Amino acid sequence: MINAAGPYGAKIASMVGIEIPLKPRKGEIMVTAPQKKVLNYPLMSATYIAAKYDPEIAKAGTGFAVEQVENGNILIGSTREFVDFDSSSTIKSIQSISKGIEKTLPGLGKLKIIRDFAGFRPYTPDGLPFIGEHKKVKGFFFACGHEGDGITLCAITGRIVSEMIDGIEPEFDMQNFNPARFDNQGDK
Ligand SMILES: Cc1cc2nc3c(=O)[nH]c(=O)nc-3n(C[C@H](O)[C@H](O)[C@H](O)COP(=O)(O)OP(=O)(O)OC[C@H]3O[C@@H](n4cnc5c(N)ncnc54)[C@H](O)[C@@H]3O)c2cc1C
Repeated sequence: MINAAGPYGAKIASMVGIEIPLKPRKGEIMVTAPQKKVLNYPLMSATYIAAKYDPEIAKAGTGFAVEQVENGNILIGSTREFVDFDSSSTIKSIQSISKGIEKTLPGLGKLKIIRDFAGFRPYTPDGLPFIGEHKKVKGFFFACGHEGDGITLCAITGRIVSEMIDGIEPEFDMQNFNPARFDNQGDK
């Protein structure tokens, strides 16, 4: 059995008696109406990445990640918040994201926002996912906890977990991703 339930990973683990400190970390994103091409590449501020590891930075300001999709909509994000599974759009987040982006890309200061939505990143206290079999329950594998990098890391995670299930030693040292690494440490 593979626990690949993302932000719900702790709930699934608890069904087999395993506690892991994984929790949902909300990210809110605004979407504009389609418009002519202005961004050739996705753009992220360093603060956005740093906020992944430092909750104080996440609290102080969100940083930004922005990209324009094929049909012209611009996606502007994103917050990092611990609010359980509350996916509401909030004025506070919209203001904070808007301020961050306008400072760096003033050209985006006047846009038609058509939508705002939120998703949940699977957060772990050390920023690393849980990958592999848990020593307490034979045959129960973890593949969750990738926070804001789960899309990027899905292919390699799938390969490694399938190798582990087949009894093949992965080519990487997987100790840091051990799903039992927080056992007996409480919810850090
Ligand atoms: C705003 C935002 C921006 C992001 N930007 C990026 C980015 O630029 N690059 C990147 O790599 N990642 C990004 N991420 C992170 C990425 O979305 C996650 O890391 C990734 O989705 C985690 O993948 P997953 O398969 O582990 O979990 P999920 O994609 O959450 O999938 C878990 C699945 O499990 C299912 N599930 C849960 N409970 C049960 C159950 N009881 N029974 C059956 N099924 C169940 C859910 O329905 C869901 O389909 C972003 C996330 C957010 C919120």
